[in-house]
Amino acid sequence: MSGLPFRAKIQQIRHLTPDIREMTLEMLEPSELVFRPGQAIAVTVPDTGSGSSLLRYFSLASPPRSSRQLVLLLNSQDRGKGSTFLLENELGVELQVSGPHGSFMLQHEPERTLLFIGTGTGIAPLWSMMATLLAESCFQTMTLLWGLRSESDRYYLQELEAWKSRHENFSYVLTLSQPSSAWKGNKGRVTDLLQELTTVEDSAAYVCGNRAMVKEVMDLLKRKGAGAIYRERHSENA
Ligand SMILES: Cc1cc2nc3c(=O)[nH]c(=O)nc-3n(C[C@H](O)[C@H](O)[C@H](O)COP(=O)(O)OP(=O)(O)OC[C@H]3O[C@@H](n4cnc5c(N)ncnc54)[C@H](O)[C@@H]3O)c2cc1C
Repeated sequence: MSGLPFRAKIQQIRHLTPDIREMTLEMLEPSELVFRPGQAIAVTVPDTGSGSSLLRYFSLASPPRSSRQLVLLLNSQDRGKGSTFLLENELGVELQVSGPHGSFMLQHEPERTLLFIGTGTGIAPLWSMMATLLAESCFQTMTLLWGLRSESDRYYLQELEAWKSRHENFSYVLTLSQPSSAWKGNKGRVTDLLQELTTVEDSAAYVCGNRAMVKEVMDLLKRKGAGAIYRERHSENA
């Protein structure tokens, strides 16, 4: 992965759910980051144990038009070196970052319908893509299939409802793998939602989640004959 070094400071951290944090970074030097929807940045994390540093990648959830403020979605339950370092920092702390990284990015395929499939923080790069397309009044039919664990893991619901009411071509389906008994919505995994879709031949599918989810969704999309498939793995863990 390539990308240029830059400096940014932590401007805001919002608790979206008990586990998910939305972190906004303000670009310092240079003052803007040019990237494509779907791409990621890498944060340098000091490794106190070895005295050296580690790199941790995070997808940009914000669209490229907000190039001075970069939004990340972090899972505070990862509890590894990178997430702990980022989330224990105070507001205003400066980070060493590089980017943009990665080839997972929105393609120009106006003839296709668009299918966005994510689990957990896998929504981040998809969010940047959808926000970009909807702001450009894109006419393509867009569907988001989003898998989360339970009711308390849901976030960005107001934003999704606003998109749905403003854009006839946008729809989303949320499914919960471990909902409470009171949940009236979809139960199960995103693959269950995908099974129900009758036609994907005309679709470009963008998939983001952990390794096991990405593999399962890609296998299913291939079996169903999806027109094009693009994927990003956020974790090698199942
Ligand atoms: C292109 C790309 C984009 C990505 N985008 C995102 C994103 O948008 N949002 C996001 O949240 N992640 C994203 N990731 C994943 C992210 O880069 C890190 O891998 C993730 O945050 C875990 O890193 P870590 O340093 O916190 O954990 P590591 O130290 O690398 O540990 C790996 C795992 O081990 C376990 N673990 C380690 N230490 C402990 C401990 N003390 N207690 C309990 N468990 C522990 C945790 O399960 C942890 O996730 C992305 C990865 C890639 C490659």
